[in-house]
Amino acid sequence: MEICRGSRCLKVELIAYSLPKEGDVDKLVAESGAISHAPEFRELDEKRVRHLIELLRKLGHESVFEHACFTFRVEGISRVCTHQLVRHRLASYTQQSQRYVKLKNPKFIVPEAIFGSQFEEEYMELLEKASELYRRMVEGGIRKEDARFILPQGVETKIIITMNGRELRHFFSLRCEKDAQWEIRNLAKAMLKQAYEVAPILFEDLYKKYIENYP
Ligand SMILES: Cc1cc2nc3c(=O)[nH]c(=O)nc-3n(C[C@H](O)[C@H](O)[C@H](O)COP(=O)(O)OP(=O)(O)OC[C@H]3O[C@@H](n4cnc5c(N)ncnc54)[C@H](O)[C@@H]3O)c2cc1C
Repeated sequence: MEICRGSRCLKVELIAYSLPKEGDVDKLVAESGAISHAPEFRELDEKRVRHLIELLRKLGHESVFEHACFTFRVEGISRVCTHQLVRHRLASYTQQSQRYVKLKNPKFIVPEAIFGSQFEEEYMELLEKASELYRRMVEGGIRKEDARFILPQGVETKIIITMNGRELRHFFSLRCEKDAQWEIRNLAKAMLKQAYEVAPILFEDLYKKYIENYP
């Protein structure tokens, strides 16, 4: 068994995103939006791109942001976290299966709060016991899909997430907030940092709020 303390094992990688033939994600979004008020499609310079995206945000004309998609590869999170994540319905997910993948050496995400508490020893013993029983059950002929019931929710998982720009903004506005649970908040903030790198205008307001000016 392996232990991951808090989000120390969290790995998030933006592996794909929508790029127009020329330009970047911001340009794709702004030029898509521009057609609603123009007789022809047209190219926008950087200043107009910024102006238009800011205007779309202000007016709440966010369907335009759906033209850009972002795909993230995530590992080092618990099933507790992915259970919250997949409540966001306007997204696509592919998650590592516990039916098909035998967890040879299960990893568990353990909240920081457990370390140094009076429960730490007992907590670790239970994880060890659950892992050991899981291993013996699978080796003893119990199907993985049944043996997995013994695994605690903190077990580590891997998932691919695809969201469009509108849903991603909505996800960040809920899950980067202080009242979001720490693990999904850490995930959302890691995703926001990477989304901002490729679409700095589209995510600028959220980046400032949750990353730059976060208390
Ligand atoms: C701090 C926090 C605490 C939470 N606590 C709980 C809890 O205790 N129990 C619990 O069950 N959940 C809880 N949730 C989950 C929450 O209720 C939502 O399920 C989750 O945040 C997904 O957000 P969303 O509904 O906006 O969905 P998304 O799937 O992200 O949808 C985006 C938007 O699309 C629209 N939309 C999507 N589907 C529909 C639909 N079928 N009909 C109409 N409009 C739709 C809505 O405008 C929605 O806001 C919590 C979430 C947060 C952030």
